[in-house]
Amino acid sequence: MIEWSEEQVMVRDAIRAFIDKEIKPNLEELEHGDTPPYEVLRKLYRTFGMDAMARDRFEKSVAAGGDGDGSEGKERTEGARDPNTVAFTLIPIIELCRYCPGMVTAMGVSVGLTAAAIMSRGTEAQKRRWALDLLTLDKIGAWAITEPNSGSDAFGAMKSTARRDGDEYVLNGSKTFITNGPYADTIVFICKLDEGNDPRERKVLSFVLDAGMPGLEQSKPLRKMGLHSSPTGELFLSDVRVGKDRLIGETEEGPARSAAKDTFSMERTGVAAMALGIVSQCLELSVQYAKDRVQFGKPIGEFQLIQLKLAKMEVARLNIQNLVFRQVEMQAAGRPTSLAEASAMKLYSAQAAMEVALEAVQLFGGNGYMAEFQVEQLARDAKVLQIYAGTDEIQVSQIARSLLA
Ligand SMILES: Cc1cc2nc3c(=O)[nH]c(=O)nc-3n(C[C@H](O)[C@H](O)[C@H](O)COP(=O)(O)OP(=O)(O)OC[C@H]3O[C@@H](n4cnc5c(N)ncnc54)[C@H](O)[C@@H]3O)c2cc1C
Repeated sequence: MIEWSEEQVMVRDAIRAFIDKEIKPNLEELEHGDTPPYEVLRKLYRTFGMDAMARDRFEKSVAAGGDGDGSEGKERTEGARDPNTVAFTLIPIIELCRYCPGMVTAMGVSVGLTAAAIMSRGTEAQKRRWALDLLTLDKIGAWAITEPNSGSDAFGAMKSTARRDGDEYVLNGSKTFITNGPYADTIVFICKLDEGNDPRERKVLSFVLDAGMPGLEQSKPLRKMGLHSSPTGELFLSDVRVGKDRLIGETEEGPARSAAKDTFSMERTGVAAMALGIVSQCLELSVQYAKDRVQFGKPIGEFQLIQLKLAKMEVARLNIQNLVFRQVEMQAAGRPTSLAEASAMKLYSAQAAMEVALEAVQLFGGNGYMAEFQVEQLARDAKVLQIYAGTDEIQVSQIARSLLA
């Protein structure tokens, strides 16, 4: 695949028109006001029938015992996905990230992490009870693994616990940096089963919680460097009592660690599409500015040092685009992305997006530092790509471990 098909370009243009009408005029409020992104995202879903498509895929998937990713009932290699389904997932990510990477984070965590966690290991009843409403964005989800003292070492240092009490479990612990945490209706809470054994040996379990359950507190949004259109918060659990019906898969023997690792893979490949949106926008804005801005009697685009910046931005854009297209091809061929490969994609794309966005700020001079010219927001937002879904350093060790195995 070297470019979007005609049909895919039509979808892209329609998404662009939606962004022009619904997002650009409200960008200031979404980024700096108190308006959460969910109503605009729901409107996007309704406008493009994404909710109806999700519902349809859900029913087919549940009937076929799959995980709702569009791979069921197709006459392709086992696990293969319709390339259009993949493309139509990636195009909104890329286009929204030109303006609002935060909105993509809020949407991605709700649909791509929370619903996906329930769809991949949950029982049919759990999928119907929680995942369907998340897939259509009728409800908002949060996926909570990070804790104040366990980030990169997510499982090793995890302190949140589940203790058995008769037929129930009692959950305790606190989570931080949780996307959608302040507003989530449905939360996947990852913790360890405390049987009085060594914490490092404990089984990892995932539970589904509903907002408002006794003992569950959701903080207000945390203030942060960027990504302001994605609310991030803390969760506090104090003796939250749950039945087995909330344990994903309704079994303690489920592979919760490897399920969480599958989720990391999904998150990391999604970052490439996000980076493509940020880089494409920075490049377009920079090219225009290089033509318009005159210094020393000529457009700054005539200076070789400015040309070098533009050329490097284009190289990054092409490389990331190739990674994104490769992802479409691999999924269409039913070839899963390994964790190391997903890490490599994320490491490159995140670093390239950060570098391009900072160079765009530099190219714009003083204007680059001003909010009005947009590149400062993209630079603040790009930084998070090197931190969440595993830091750059963790991607490096993941890639190296796989190479040296
Ligand atoms: C905006 C935002 C949204 C987020 N959303 C979610 C969410 O929805 N759900 C969720 O569960 N989490 C979420 N996170 C948390 C995120 O995944 C963690 O912040 C990230 O994994 C890093 O963990 P940490 O912050 O504890 O850093 P630490 O793990 O404390 O790392 C600190 C520094 O040490 C380095 N380091 C750590 N270990 C090693 C090592 N072995 N080798 C070399 N260097 C190392 C790191 O790379 C980093 O530079 C979010 C974070 C942010 C910023």
